[in-house]
Amino acid sequence: MPSAFTHAIAGAAVAQLLPRDAPRRRLALAFAVAATMPDLDVVTFLFDIPYVHPLGHRGWTHSILFAMLFGSLAVLLVPRSGHRGWQWWGRVAFCGFLAVVSHGVLDAFTDAGRGVGFLIPFDNDRYFAPIRPIEVSSVDPRRFFSARGLEILRSEIRWVWLPLAGLSLLGWALARRGTEATK
Ligand SMILES: [Zn+2]
Repeated sequence: MPSAFTHAIAGAAVAQLLPRDAPRRRLALAFAVAATMPDLDVVTFLFDIPYVHPLGHRGWTHSILFAMLFGSLAVLLVPRSGHRGWQWWGRVAFCGFLAVVSHGVLDAFTDAGRGVGFLIPFDNDRYFAPIRPIEVSSVDPRRFFSARGLEILRSEIRWVWLPLAGLSLLGWALARRGTEATK
C-alpha cells in the first residue's frame, strides 16, 4: 500500500468534485479518513485469514462494491436543508465512492504484495495496474521513519502528490474561469 498519508491526501482531493454548496471542509476530512479505512483489513492477519481470501488484505474492503456502500454514507454528513435534488445527493455519494475506491486504485499501482480484489464478492481475482511505479509501504509505522520510508515517500510524492496537485490546480483554474464567465 502507499502510506496512510498518501491515501488520505487522495481521498481529500476528491472533495473538490463536490457540489459548490456542499460542506466541503467537513467532507474533505471525512474522505481523508475514509480513504485510509480499507487497510484496517490487516487485522485479518491476526485471525490467520490468508492474504488471498476474499476477506483478506486487499480483499473485500478494497472492492468497488465496498467503496459504493461505504462511500455513499457521505450523504449522512450533510445537513438536510434547502431543496436539493437527487442529482445533488448523487454527486455527494459518488464523491464518497471515489474517495474510498481511490484507495484500491492506488494500491493497484504499487510494486509489491498481491493485487486488489476490485470485483469481490463476484470474483475473487486480484488485479494490478499495467504499470506499478509506487513503492509499497510497510504497515508498520515505525518503518516509515527510516531511509526506506523516505524512498517510499519520494515515490509517492512523485507519482501521487504532484499529479494530484496539478489536477487540483487545473480544477481550480477551470472553476475560476467558469465563475468569471458567468459574471
Ligand atoms: Zn490497501
